[in-house]
Amino acid sequence: MPFTLRGDDVCQLTPPTPISDPYWVAFSASAAELIHLELGATGLPKDPDWLELLAGNQLNVGELTFSNPISTAYSGHQFGSWAGQLGDGRAILLGDINQLELQLKGAGKTHYSRMGDGRAVLRSSIREFLCSEAMHALGIPTSRALSVVGSKQRVIRETVETAAVCSRIAPSFIRIGHFEHFASLQNIVRLKELADLLMSEFYPKCLTEKDPYLNLFKEISARNAKLVAQWQSVGFCHGVLNSDNISALGLTIDYGPFGFLDQFEIDHICNHSDHGGRYAYHRQPQIMHWNMACLASAMLPLLELEHSTEESQALLRTALEEFPVVYAKEWQQIFRSKLGLQLEQDGDIELIERLLQAKHDSKVDFTTFFRNLSNVRKDFQPMDITQRNEFIDRESIDQWFADYIQRLQSEVLSDEARKKMMDQVNPKYILRNHLAQTAIEKAQQDDFSEIEQLQLILSKPFDEQEAFEDYAKPPPVDMQRIEVSCSS
Ligand code: AMP
Ligand code: MG
Ligand code: MG
Repeated sequence: MPFTLRGDDVCQLTPPTPISDPYWVAFSASAAELIHLELGATGLPKDPDWLELLAGNQLNVGELTFSNPISTAYSGHQFGSWAGQLGDGRAILLGDINQLELQLKGAGKTHYSRMGDGRAVLRSSIREFLCSEAMHALGIPTSRALSVVGSKQRVIRETVETAAVCSRIAPSFIRIGHFEHFASLQNIVRLKELADLLMSEFYPKCLTEKDPYLNLFKEISARNAKLVAQWQSVGFCHGVLNSDNISALGLTIDYGPFGFLDQFEIDHICNHSDHGGRYAYHRQPQIMHWNMACLASAMLPLLELEHSTEESQALLRTALEEFPVVYAKEWQQIFRSKLGLQLEQDGDIELIERLLQAKHDSKVDFTTFFRNLSNVRKDFQPMDITQRNEFIDRESIDQWFADYIQRLQSEVLSDEARKKMMDQVNPKYILRNHLAQTAIEKAQQDDFSEIEQLQLILSKPFDEQEAFEDYAKPPPVDMQRIEVSCSS
């Protein structure tokens, strides 16, 4: 969507800063399709100028010219505290293609870079690239990644690393932080423009109903509630759920120190910098709800255009209460399908929760357990199920399997049909940290083959891919605890 808001208080003209001798590190043909980019036989853009464009070294390619690259202003709450103005410190919105925004991340300093260098390192760019595309393949709303362009240009973090530019695509990169920004400045005109823009492009139904701004709030909140339920269902931890990293479209955005669960630990913290565990796996739903409260506060002046302050507060408070309801409904529906339960019966939720508790107690691999669960048959005895061996408390897991088998007997689907259905919701392949790490380490030696390999495998996460069984396995012991921090 064209980001049509203009003015120094909203965005700044920001030409990318060139990098030296760029080269392709990764490219997504599937993301390229979204913008009708013509590819050659190598799977890379036919026109070599695309490399220069996506490196931030030029602003035109073929007929296409991006004459108005911008970075935008936003604010936000970081780790629960008001952080004031942040903004696109290293993201530059080149412009639109086919109604989609094309952004370069790491293409140099912007008006909002503060103390930062506007760059991104190779490792974090590869992680964002791989995860964006893997999430898309899992059916989870996300910004897409088109490419990673590398350079030998040095970037200083804890150590000296090299720069990379990741290009990403989304219908819009508007965040909760954009609302908070204008609200904090008490700029109601801008706040209204932002909401109107979102409604006209993405939430047109809100405009046709009474209380459009209240409806907009409810819609954004519902999308994000459903999004977190989907994250929980594949064991995805975002890592930095600050309000400036929360999309107004309910997309997963700003991949940083994210992680997929290997062993199921309900309180797993993927971000090494998150000492208090604010963004631990089990806190994600409540934190997203908290972020929606930030959005509600920011949108209050819009409701006050039509209602008294008391009324506006009451309306938003009630709307905010819908979040846990939407979340729970979505979560229950997804987890029922993960267990192969099509009917809704009393006791289902308890059955799911007992399983998760047992998995947590025995640190069972989140993904492989669900994947293999589809092999359970209605005529099995708990003793037939090899997965029982993964649990410490056999007696209790046997009881669980007995209850599960009994519950399956009330289902209509045959074992075969249920397996088919379950295998479409329980992925076999996820972007485990150790897989990303292996690809990164090879890339740091200029071997990008593992990135391509992962892209291929993770593009079909629900398929059996016999040649790649190893990629479905939990990490080897020495790669179980890879530390990922905010540094990127
Ligand atoms: P994040 O939590 O990674 O989404 O980033 C938080 C804020 O810091 C955003 O405003 C980013 O644009 C900014 N930021 C992160 N890294 C850099 C960097 N290397 N240079 C400039 N700004 C950055
Ligand atoms: Mg961010
Ligand atoms: Mg980040």
